[in-house]
Amino acid sequence: MTKTIILGAGLAGLSAGRCLQAQGHEVHIIDKGRGVGGRLATRRLGGARLDHGAQFFTTRGELFTETVAQAVEAGAVSEWCRGFAEHDGYPRYRGTDGMTSLAKWMATGLDMQLGVEVDRIETVEGQVQLLAANGDPIAHAEQAVVTAPIPQMLQLFDRGNVRPDAELDSALRGTSYFATLALLAVVDGKPNIDEPGGMQFDDGPFTFIADNKRKGISDVRALTFHAEHDYSLRRFDDDPDQVHAELIDQAAPWIGDATFVESQLKKWRYAGPVTPLPKPTYLVEQDGTRIALAGDAFAGPKVEGAFRSGHAAASALL
Ligand SMILES: Cc1cc2nc3c(=O)[nH]c(=O)nc-3n(C[C@H](O)[C@H](O)[C@H](O)COP(=O)(O)OP(=O)(O)OC[C@H]3O[C@@H](n4cnc5c(N)ncnc54)[C@H](O)[C@@H]3O)c2cc1C
Repeated sequence: MTKTIILGAGLAGLSAGRCLQAQGHEVHIIDKGRGVGGRLATRRLGGARLDHGAQFFTTRGELFTETVAQAVEAGAVSEWCRGFAEHDGYPRYRGTDGMTSLAKWMATGLDMQLGVEVDRIETVEGQVQLLAANGDPIAHAEQAVVTAPIPQMLQLFDRGNVRPDAELDSALRGTSYFATLALLAVVDGKPNIDEPGGMQFDDGPFTFIADNKRKGISDVRALTFHAEHDYSLRRFDDDPDQVHAELIDQAAPWIGDATFVESQLKKWRYAGPVTPLPKPTYLVEQDGTRIALAGDAFAGPKVEGAFRSGHAAASALL
């Protein structure tokens, strides 16, 4: 039985894992996070539950639409709305208990090693090896899927001995990401947030604001504010207390008469690729091994893009 190691239990890694396992491959997924989901991230604050990464997702392609229909049937996912400012007829989905519900459902039955950070990737005599910072081996197999955001992927390759060809290497190094600073706030009272509990903006200080209670994932009122990309990049490494206070000020019009109970700043350095690469996956072949590259940077900066890329990576390895 062919064994494949998958680095990353985000949507791309889980999608690749499901596809390979369904075709009879042995799959082992490794992630540094305590839970699955990557940028599909749900956390608790006070008594509330908040999504602080991806807020919702849509389905366009047949395969993702089918998978999401199964997740809906299993109770992991449900429709949130059909548009925010205006209805366009396309369902926007949410995880039933937050966005990680989709990832948890997809992870069912997959062999998973969580809380393990890979420092570098090496190939030697037909084996891909994942190594820890102290040089200890974490896992090895004849092939691998790597789904870390590209700058992190390149670090893993550079510290090890994986060398994509010159054209791919230059495309990878030329891929930049936008950042997102998120303000998470538990509030008391009724904020100024329109139905259905989500507001999307093309300009202004925030790109998205969610009321996680109205979204249906939190019993306690809690809001997520995603700061716009230029601000997020500019202020990313500045004093977090100052940035936190600034975001609280900027949130005032939507807080309205409600009051802050507790709040937190969350930072996403690699929130999404500015310009995704043209193909959903690329193969690096060396020392008799195959390494498929996947993630939202290869098929679009969205949940469905990550899913599609993971599936393409798995198909390339079958
Ligand atoms: C703030 C924000 C808002 C968003 N909003 C939306 C939205 O509303 N709708 C939408 O469709 N998309 C949205 N997205 C994008 C969506 O979340 C991503 O496109 C998708 O989740 C990416 O999945 P992925 O598997 O490619 O990467 P990730 O989810 O990042 O998975 C990569 C995994 O690799 C692991 N990893 C990395 N390095 C290592 C290492 N060295 N060792 C071990 N593990 C490692 C990470 O822990 C992570 O779990 C948003 C993203 C952010 C950040």
